Amino acid sequence: MAEIVKTFEELMDVITASKKNYNIKKITAAYEYAATMHSGQKRESGEPYITHPIAVAQILVELGMDTDTICAALLHDVVEDTGASLDILKKNFGQDVANLVDGVTKLNQVALFSREEQQAENIRKMLLFMSKDIRVIIIKLSDRLHNMRTLGYRSEAKRRDVSLETMNIFVPLANRLGIRRLKEELEDTAFSYLDPYAYNEIEQLLEKSKAEREEFIEQIKAKLTKRLAADFDPLPVIEGRVKSAYGIYKKVYEQGRLFDEIYDKYAVRVIVNTVTECYYVLGIVHDMFQPIPNRFKDYISTPKANMYQSLHTTVVGREGIPFEVQIRTHEMHHTAEYGIAAHWKYKEGVKGKYKLDNRLNWVRQILDTQQESNDVEDIVRAIKEDLAPEDVFAMTPKGDVISLPLGSTVIDFAYAIHTQVGHRMVGAKADKKLVPLDYVIKTGEIIEIITSKDPHHGPNRAWLNICQTNEAKSKIRSWFKKERREENIQEGREELEREFRRNLMRVPPEEMEDFMSFDMKRHNCETLDDFYAAVGYGGIILSKIMPRLKDEYTKKYIQNESDHDPSSLMDLSLQQNKKPSSGIIVDGIDNCVVKLSQCCSPLPGDDIIGFITRGHGVSIHKKDCINYTSQKDSCPERWVNVRWAGKEQHSAYYRVVLDVFGYNRTGILVDVMSVLQESRIPAHEASARELKNGNVSILLTISIAGTSELQGIINKIKKVDGVIDVSRSSK
Ligand code: MN
Repeated sequence: MAEIVKTFEELMDVITASKKNYNIKKITAAYEYAATMHSGQKRESGEPYITHPIAVAQILVELGMDTDTICAALLHDVVEDTGASLDILKKNFGQDVANLVDGVTKLNQVALFSREEQQAENIRKMLLFMSKDIRVIIIKLSDRLHNMRTLGYRSEAKRRDVSLETMNIFVPLANRLGIRRLKEELEDTAFSYLDPYAYNEIEQLLEKSKAEREEFIEQIKAKLTKRLAADFDPLPVIEGRVKSAYGIYKKVYEQGRLFDEIYDKYAVRVIVNTVTECYYVLGIVHDMFQPIPNRFKDYISTPKANMYQSLHTTVVGREGIPFEVQIRTHEMHHTAEYGIAAHWKYKEGVKGKYKLDNRLNWVRQILDTQQESNDVEDIVRAIKEDLAPEDVFAMTPKGDVISLPLGSTVIDFAYAIHTQVGHRMVGAKADKKLVPLDYVIKTGEIIEIITSKDPHHGPNRAWLNICQTNEAKSKIRSWFKKERREENIQEGREELEREFRRNLMRVPPEEMEDFMSFDMKRHNCETLDDFYAAVGYGGIILSKIMPRLKDEYTKKYIQNESDHDPSSLMDLSLQQNKKPSSGIIVDGIDNCVVKLSQCCSPLPGDDIIGFITRGHGVSIHKKDCINYTSQKDSCPERWVNVRWAGKEQHSAYYRVVLDVFGYNRTGILVDVMSVLQESRIPAHEASARELKNGNVSILLTISIAGTSELQGIINKIKKVDGVIDVSRSSK
C-alpha cells in the first residue's frame, strides 16, 4: 500500500491515481464539512483529528470503494465526536451516506470485546448492520486498520485491549470477507502488540535470511521465466512473496515447527489469464521441480468459503529447499487481495443495490442459527467457528473432498461423511497410517474411517471433547439422547420387574403387553417400550399404579392359576421316571389336588399355607408370600393349613429359580451348567444377561428335591470361577 496520506490534497492524488470515476465535488464537500466539524480536535499522536478520516478514506479508495463510501469514511466520526446530526448529513450527502455513517457510529457503540454473553449479542448486532449494507463493515475495518497503524500512541492497556479485539473479531471478519490486504496487516499489527517478543524474533529471523531468501526467489523466478517464455507471450506475472509474520508465528508456536521447517515461508506466485493456463503452468512446475506429496491444494475447483481461488503446490528444487507455488488468474488474484470489495458493483445512484448477495449467505445463516439457539456459549462458538480463518481439505479413499474447519479431527471427518459412519467409527487412518481419534486432519491427507460391523455401535461421550465441528457434536449428542431412551427402557423394565418380583407377580412376557394395556393407554404409551421408557425417566410412578396392577394380577393369575400353568407341579420329563407326589398334607382334606404356587415356589422346609381354588384344588404358598399376607383377611375361609409330609420328599421335585451373579467371563455359563450336570440336577431353563458394569446375571430354572439339596448345589455353583453370589430368585 502507498504511504499513509495526511492531507486532503494527498488523498486527491490517490483518488486521481485510481483512475476511477469518483464524484470529486461530493467528496470535497464531505471533506470540508468533516474538517470544519473536527477543527481543533487532536488525535493521541498530536496530529489534527481530520488526518484520521482522511487516512481511512485512503484505505477505502485503495480497496476500490465507491463515492458514498469515501464520503462516509470522511464523515464517519462526526456524529459520534462532534454531535453533527444525521439529518444534516442526509440533507447534504444523501440517505446512503447518512445510513453508512449511522451504521459505523452504532457499530462503534457496540462493545465487541466484552463478557461472553454480551459478545454474542454484540457480534449479532454487528452482523445485522453488515447484512443491511456490507459497506458499513468495510468502513469499520478500514477505520480499525488506521487505528491499529497508530496504536503506538495509546496507553499500554488500550493497546492490548484493541489488539485482542482486532485479533478475535476483525481479523476473522476481514478473512471471511476475503480482504487479504486488510486481514494480514490487521493481524500482523495486532500480533506485534500481543506478543512483541515473538514478533521481534520472527522479524529478526526474516531480516537475517532476507538476502539469502531474495536470492533464492530470484533464482526460481528466473528458472520459471525461462521455461514459461517458450509457451507464453506475453509472460505471466511471476512474483515472490514471504509469508506474513503472524502466519509464520502460527506455524512455529501452534504447530511446533522450526522456522526452517516452514515450507511456504517462501512462495512464488504465477498469475495467468485463464483457468486452463493455471493447470498448464502447474504441470510445468511439477515437471521442473519435485512436488512434495499431499501438499497440492486445488482451491480453483474447491474455492475457500471467502471466495479465494488458486492452485497451491509445494515443490523442492535442486537445492533441497521447499517452496510454495501459487497459480491463479488475474481475476482470482484480484479477489484474493480485495475479497468482497473486489466484487463491488460500481453503480452510482442505483437504489437497493447493496443487498447481501449469495457470497454473504453465511452472515444470514449465522443470524438464523442464533435465533434458534439460546445457549450463549454455543452461539459464540458457532460464530467463531464460522469466522474461522482456514478450512482444511481432506479426501476419502474414493477421492471425495471433505472440507472442515481448521483443527478438525478424524471424528469430525467421519461425521462429515455420514452420521452412521461417525456412530460406527472405531478407528481411522491418515495416509494409510493408523492414527488416534483425536488426530487433527491436515489438508491433502487421505482419511480412511474404520467402522464397526455392529450396527448398534455408538460414539463415546469423550468424543464431545475431541471433535471440533458443531455438526459432529450435535450428531453425537442426539445419539446419546436416543441412547438415553434405550437406557430408560432398560431401567424402566428392570424397575417394573423388581416391583413385580417384590409383589410376587409373574406375568409371562408374551402376556405383558396385554396385562399392562390399561396403564399404557392411560399414559399414552403406544408400545410397551414407551411405557418402560416413561417409567425409566420417572414419567410414570410405579408405586401409584402397583395396587391396581396387583388386584388385576390376582384376578387374572392367582385365583385361576391352574388354568394357566399346570406344569408348575413339576417337570414333565421327570414325571415319567419318578412318581409324582406333592408331599404335602392338607389339614382336613384327603387326597386333594395340590399344586405349588408359582409366585413363591415353596420348597420343603418352608412355612406354607394353602389356598382353595375354584375347582383346581389347593395351591400352596409360602406364609410370607405377598399373595397370602395381602389376601388372608379378604377371604379367610379359603385359606387352609397345610404342612410338608415327612422331612424331605426325595421322590418329589420342586422347581426353583436360581439367580447366579458373577463376572462376565467367557465360559462362565458353561461352567455353571456343568456343575448342575455333575450333580445330576436337571435344568429347564437358563438365561444369561450381561449387566452394564461388566457383570453377568444367570437365571437358572432347576428341579430340586428340597432345601438341603438346594443349599448343596448353591454352594457348588458359588465355587465356580467368577461367580460372586447365588440366590434363590422370587423369595
Ligand atoms: Mn474512526
